[in-house]
Amino acid sequence: MGRFKVAVIEGDGIGPEVCRAACEVLEKTGEIFGHEFEFNKALAGGIAIDETGECLPEATVNLCRASDSVLLGAVGGPKWDDLSGEARPETALLGLREELGLYANLRPATIHMALKNACPLKEEIIGDGIDILIVRELTGGIYFGEKGWKGSKNGMKAYDVESYSEAEVKRIAIRAFDSAMKRQKRVVSVDKANVMESSRLWRRVVTEVSHDYPEVELTHMYVDNAAMQLIKDPRQFDVMVTSNIFGDILSDEASMITGSIGLLPSASLGEGSFGMYEPIHGSAPDIAGQNTANPIAAILSSAMMLRHSFGLIEEARCIENAVTKVLELGYRTYDIKDSYKIIKSEEGRESVTSMIMGCKEMGSLITNMIQAENKVFANNTSF
Ligand code: NAD
Repeated sequence: MGRFKVAVIEGDGIGPEVCRAACEVLEKTGEIFGHEFEFNKALAGGIAIDETGECLPEATVNLCRASDSVLLGAVGGPKWDDLSGEARPETALLGLREELGLYANLRPATIHMALKNACPLKEEIIGDGIDILIVRELTGGIYFGEKGWKGSKNGMKAYDVESYSEAEVKRIAIRAFDSAMKRQKRVVSVDKANVMESSRLWRRVVTEVSHDYPEVELTHMYVDNAAMQLIKDPRQFDVMVTSNIFGDILSDEASMITGSIGLLPSASLGEGSFGMYEPIHGSAPDIAGQNTANPIAAILSSAMMLRHSFGLIEEARCIENAVTKVLELGYRTYDIKDSYKIIKSEEGRESVTSMIMGCKEMGSLITNMIQAENKVFANNTSF
């Protein structure tokens, strides 16, 4: 039996809705496997600005440090869009990553075969599935470089500096190669070494690290080509390792291949087992408060927490399997409502069905599925 302290930063927009679903799933999983999760809420983002005047109050950072892991919803929204630079809610994300030393962001992009028709790519491109792990550097590069505005003879000039040290590239490359050793043993390192000095250093260091992993095949790819290849032939990728900004963009692109941004989880990790887990989507202000958000990205983020921070592999699989089963049964949220389940009659006639659920209902279905699959209280469970 394990006891784990989880700091929960619900944030703004759909953040609270999807975090509630993820906590419900974690609680049920803990109940079944005999673990106890202590959830403690903390403020960050727009709601923190409203309530404390700061997007990342010190109390939040302290609570995270005193916890075993962090579950984060999303931050930001139009209400705070007029604030400038450091005062914006999104600054809280950079602050959390920096304060907590979370330099590696793992973003798996996997197609649920039940949602194959939600993928905008042709069937022959998807084949028997897509399973990519994007390893994004998270505390360096242009998002953390020197930035500012200054006057010039052509009016105001704004700048953001992209820079990487050897140590920063080395540690993220090690993460990528370690991950590849547990997968298909292929790493594609994405950069812009034909133009940028920081990318030339990136390429050199990744190549040096690769010498310690003779079993792993390393390929270098320019980011513009990588963006194209993700659409043309996504199955060529196993692990992609890249910088902060390139990873940000490519992982959103990869999310669309899987059908919806509402499906993809992420883990932000540092040196130890501590991690911050969050869906890759934002606060989706356009659908906030309507109970229409897809909670699956947040729920799968909680599975990543169990696997990466707590070493609870069976428990993580149990959550992932429950998500797969619920999708196979034809349950959908609004973002994936067009991805119907196809049913074949005995005569071979095809018809389609899908049952559209709200965020809360989808969370409860997955929770119930975890319960049913583990034969505990199975008699109380209905689908
Ligand atoms: P977004 O990811 O919030 O939304 C993009 C589109 O995807 C919207 O149409 C939205 O409705 C949809 N969507 C997102 N998540 C969904 C879900 N779980 N279920 C169903 N549909 C979903 O990106 P955006 O619109 O560019 O940004 C909105 C706000 O979120 C901005 O303030 C932005 O800065 C912030 N943001 C925060 C994070 C974060 O907290 N990690 C990440 C990205 C953007």
